[in-house]
Amino acid sequence: MPMFVDTSPPGECIFCRLAAREIPAALVFEDDQTLAFMDIGQVTPGHVLVATRRHAATLTDVTPEEAAAVMQTAHRVARAVQAAFDPPGLTLLQANGAVGGQTVGHFHMHVVPRHADDGIALTWPRKEPGAAVLQDYAARLRAAL
Ligand SMILES: [Zn+2]
Repeated sequence: MPMFVDTSPPGECIFCRLAAREIPAALVFEDDQTLAFMDIGQVTPGHVLVATRRHAATLTDVTPEEAAAVMQTAHRVARAVQAAFDPPGLTLLQANGAVGGQTVGHFHMHVVPRHADDGIALTWPRKEPGAAVLQDYAARLRAAL
C-alpha cells in the first residue's frame, strides 16, 4: 500500500490545492469538471490521475455527472497514454476509503500503463457462495437502487 495518506479537510487537500493552482502539477488535461495530471508516485511511466475539480471524497459523494465526466476524461487520457507510451496493458483503479486503498480523500481514478512484471499486484480472493446467496445479494442491491 502507498505510504502517503492525505486526510486534509475539504478544500485544503492536495488535489483541491492543485486545482486552485496553489501547488504545481504536471497537468495533462482539464475541463470544467475534471483535472488529469501526472501521479508524483509514477508506478509506471505515464501514470495519470483523473480527479474531480470539486472536492468530493469518494464515489458515493460525486454526482452522476461528475462520475461520468471522470470516466470520459480517463477514457481520453487512456487513449493518449496508449499513443504516447504504448504499454501492452492498462489498468484503471478507483479506490474508496482507506480500507479500499484510497490515500487522498478527494475522488480520483488512476490510469496506469501496465507491463509484464511491473510489480503491481491486486490479490483477488475468489469465492463462489452459490446461486441462492447471489440471488440474495442481487435482491439487496435492487432494493437499494
Ligand atoms: Zn479536495
